[in-house]
Amino acid sequence: MLSDTDRATYEWQLDVPGLGEDGQLKLGATTALVSRVGGLGGPLAMSLVAAGVGRIVLVHGGELQESDLNRQTLMSRDWLGRSRVECAAETIARFKPEIEVVAVNENFNDGNAAELVEMADIVFDCAPLFEERFLMNRECVKSGKPMIDSAMYSLQGQVMVIVPGKTPCLSCIYPEVPGHWRRRFPVIGAVSSMVAQVGALEGIKLICGIGEVSLGDLIMIDAGRMELEKVKLSPRDHDCDVCGELARR
Ligand SMILES: [Zn+2]
Repeated sequence: MLSDTDRATYEWQLDVPGLGEDGQLKLGATTALVSRVGGLGGPLAMSLVAAGVGRIVLVHGGELQESDLNRQTLMSRDWLGRSRVECAAETIARFKPEIEVVAVNENFNDGNAAELVEMADIVFDCAPLFEERFLMNRECVKSGKPMIDSAMYSLQGQVMVIVPGKTPCLSCIYPEVPGHWRRRFPVIGAVSSMVAQVGALEGIKLICGIGEVSLGDLIMIDAGRMELEKVKLSPRDHDCDVCGELARR
């Protein structure tokens, strides 16, 4: 049962067709992991928290720099030099004190990937680097947990919902790191938060069982032309190093 406070907080959202108390309880019972809480993961995490996920695990290594402030809206100038993940956790805790926030001050790596995914029911991958995205994808496939992969570059963004055993995984689509990828990329905060909201919504829909989740599609967002398009992905790759075994079952 929802508490009186929850019913009051989520009153307007409970009216969304199909969501109701059941959907709200599902959100409250969910631990969401968001990897990287920068221009994309920050607003995405905030939308999950506002919608009512019960627990959130934030993963991000490094300190806040001046050049983060055009897009990392969970942080402020007086926090320069502080751990970014702790800034994000503090903002979220101030917004909703009752939520449990776990802040991990490192990025996904071989040593922590399994343990981090173990903590979550659903993973939101907002990492810019393919090495981290591949690690999260591998661990999510291994543990059968859904992952929403969101990425952006300049005025373009893309979101892919990965449900192991049902949809292609990230490695089916990108067998290796695309050659053009680089660490620093052009970004306006409005674009990264726009892509973030698409990723957050696909996750909320998946958790609550509402709407039509884009399984097997790549959602492509073109902010330059202000167009959103869904491209059908090729079927699961039975020879995929990561999920091929699942596909062959
Ligand atoms: Zn695969």
